[in-house]
Amino acid sequence: AARAQAGIQRLKAYDPGHDLVALRRRFGEANLAELGSNENPYGPSPQARAAILDSLHALHRYPDPLGADLKRALAAKHGVDVAQVQLGNGSHELLMQLAQVFAGPGDEVVFSRYGFAVFALATQAAGATMRIVEALPRDAAMPCGHDLDAIAAAIGPATRLVYVANPNNPTGTWFGREAMIAFLDRVPADVLVVMDEAYAEMAEAPDYASALSLLGRYPNLAITRTFSKAYGLAGLRVGYLLAQPGLVQVMDRLRESFNVNGPALAACVAALADEAHLDWACARNAEQRAALAAALQQRGLRVFPSQTNFVLVEFGPRTAQIEAALVERGVILRPMAGYGLADCLRISVGSPDENRRLLAALDQVLT
Ligand code: PMP
Repeated sequence: AARAQAGIQRLKAYDPGHDLVALRRRFGEANLAELGSNENPYGPSPQARAAILDSLHALHRYPDPLGADLKRALAAKHGVDVAQVQLGNGSHELLMQLAQVFAGPGDEVVFSRYGFAVFALATQAAGATMRIVEALPRDAAMPCGHDLDAIAAAIGPATRLVYVANPNNPTGTWFGREAMIAFLDRVPADVLVVMDEAYAEMAEAPDYASALSLLGRYPNLAITRTFSKAYGLAGLRVGYLLAQPGLVQVMDRLRESFNVNGPALAACVAALADEAHLDWACARNAEQRAALAAALQQRGLRVFPSQTNFVLVEFGPRTAQIEAALVERGVILRPMAGYGLADCLRISVGSPDENRRLLAALDQVLT
């Protein structure tokens, strides 16, 4: 370990939390409510499943190293040039590569206190310095959300990169177009802003806006998105980046030649074509999110506002015991101590049945 690069020496390997394989064996998959990883409980479009089956005849072949079909479909969907699209093995891979390409030892990367965990990981893995900005206070309208003014103020001469997630995980918080423009106007042209929009498809609040329409206006803006959430394809590991062609070209130097596999490429093209399934899953999520939040509030719990497929919930001083007791009842949530939110749990919005099982288990545990 002593031979590792300094940033890597300080890193901790990914902690998967609960051993889901062991828990599935113990309870039986059908008896678990897996609400810890912000997955889509409805799964992907049936057309994506069919495309995977169709792709199996070519398993002995390498996939298209350029992912041309999927890039074309994404470019058409978002109204950008194909040269502005890069594919990743999940958006996680792209977030890591962005730090590797644009920040190194001596450089600073700025992000919010409760920003997505990979921002810290990517910064340290690149050997760069983390500049963590305090989030909005818990009693703000957007509790624990990004303080865009403070983030802009934290940008200094050594800053190369700023990570922002909208909506953000694990807080569920978001911001709108005016705030985004005011922020981007303050960022120097030589600092890259990475807007992580993993949950964008599920955000429907009138005061939420994607940065997509701003890509042409700010050459230093890059957007990441994923097939893992609204498209229900977390198991395939596909994410994408939209940015200026020059940025995509330099990212491509680092990319492993076949980073997205053949069945995954085929499935994502098919998933993009099935907009009805996407809309259905997002509508279902919004309806269940509202119902779940209301049911949790009825139980006296504080639920943070969310435009994602999860809610952050305050459970107070007994949080760890409550979480452990829920696991014993087959309900898996995400502890937040690692984020510095030890009195909170993050609850993914499940199917109606999963949400019912969560609430029934909570009623046993909270008494
Ligand atoms: N960004 C955010 C905000 C996320 O919550 C996640 C997944 N938890 C990701 C990126 C990475 O997703 P994936 O690698 O599956 O695309």
